[in-house]
Amino acid sequence: MTIAIYYFRNDLRLEDNPAFMLACKNVDFLLPIYIHEEKYEEETRWGFPRVDHRRKVFLQESLEDLRTRLRHLGSDLFELAGDFKETFTSLRIDFDVSQIYCEQIEAPEELEQVRVLKNIGFEVICTWQSSMLEPQSLPFQLEQMPDVFTQFRQQVEKQKLRFANPTEAPTKIPLLSMGTEAINQASYLETQFDMKSFLGGESRALLHIEQYFDKRLPDTYKQTRNQLIGMDYSSKFSPWLALGCCSARSIAKKLTEYELQYGANDGTYWLWFELLWRDYFRFLHFKYGNQLYRSKGLSAESNNSFIEAKFNQWISGTTGEPLIDAGMRELLQTGYLSNRMRQIVASYWIYNMKGDWQAGAAWFESQLVDYDVYSNQGNWLYIAGKGTDPRGGRPMNLAKQTSDHDPDGIYRKTWLS
Ligand code: FAD
Repeated sequence: MTIAIYYFRNDLRLEDNPAFMLACKNVDFLLPIYIHEEKYEEETRWGFPRVDHRRKVFLQESLEDLRTRLRHLGSDLFELAGDFKETFTSLRIDFDVSQIYCEQIEAPEELEQVRVLKNIGFEVICTWQSSMLEPQSLPFQLEQMPDVFTQFRQQVEKQKLRFANPTEAPTKIPLLSMGTEAINQASYLETQFDMKSFLGGESRALLHIEQYFDKRLPDTYKQTRNQLIGMDYSSKFSPWLALGCCSARSIAKKLTEYELQYGANDGTYWLWFELLWRDYFRFLHFKYGNQLYRSKGLSAESNNSFIEAKFNQWISGTTGEPLIDAGMRELLQTGYLSNRMRQIVASYWIYNMKGDWQAGAAWFESQLVDYDVYSNQGNWLYIAGKGTDPRGGRPMNLAKQTSDHDPDGIYRKTWLS
């Protein structure tokens, strides 16, 4: 009789979850676990919570949805809280379990978690599953991937790679092991479910994707994607993608079916192109790993120093620059910001306020409901000129951005009044 833990990470779904499927296939008893690691409850070195309230609410909703789905198939989800090593050591002893299945995450802290699990004595079976393309299908080894996005994209396009096929959800899940009634589950969050646009969970993700395609929004994506106000100007897939409530492959498959039904156009291509950016930042992690997390990134240039008073102005939207203040207040009040505004406020922080890009990235991590380690790190490095961008940084002209993207001032009025 084999027993294993399934350790849910950023893959809070049952559809297209090959790591979970593999566990279902291989073991007799399976213990699905989510851990709220106590270090994410701590403050950053810049003095604000590492994960703020909105992200926690979205996570909690996603976990509850996952639990419901697991229960429908006779299983369950156990939420634990505390120190990572201690928690897994207890599980190892209490359940005499030595195998863990999980998704592979190629970021430093997540790689460290796997090292800790191995040191405790677990065999850890990790499956890569968070990209749209299969790494093995690429025409180059990841360690040798082109640094420049355009070259990466051209090589992918030359091979006509679009996405890897998603897998179905399991129809049967191995039984829980004996003794699970003794697991002391975490009461993690006294949830205050406030009014907000994004509700966590796989069920919501699937509904949202369905509606997005039904409304034929991909057709106008290229024209609208740089707008600042509303739900429909961009896909808003990102919060669900970030926690893995849906997979990029499922979205890409839908997009391809949509093109077959209605025809491909520059909107559908552009949506795929943006999802390819997401893959690109993931794959860069295989090549550069920890180097992406140094304050100088891949460059030789040192970071700006941190000045608290300036930082407080930036995060609270009180810099005196109306477009920046509007953007930072939107982020604070909703946990979301359009791609265009993310670029504008990040550029302003780095180049106009001479701010520390890592503090800026950490603020986004704290606030964004769609926080994704690869995309956040990759985009911040890119704008700061410390990644792979051949142009070496993206300072933006605020006056031009304002007249291009908020000519009538409606966005500023919305968030400043
Ligand atoms: P759409 O415009 O509809 O794009 C579709 C999907 O493509 C997105 O859901 C996303 O998965 C992907 N995508 C689009 N643009 C990018 C991009 N530039 N980089 C990587 N993937 C992209 N995205 C995150 O998901 N999490 C983050 O933590 C994050 N941090 C960012 C920080 C900065 C400084 C910047 C400039 C961008 C960041 N992005 C991040 C990328 C991008 O802004 C968001 O993915 C996008 O705004 C999410 O909205 P959407 O789903 O409507 O995107």
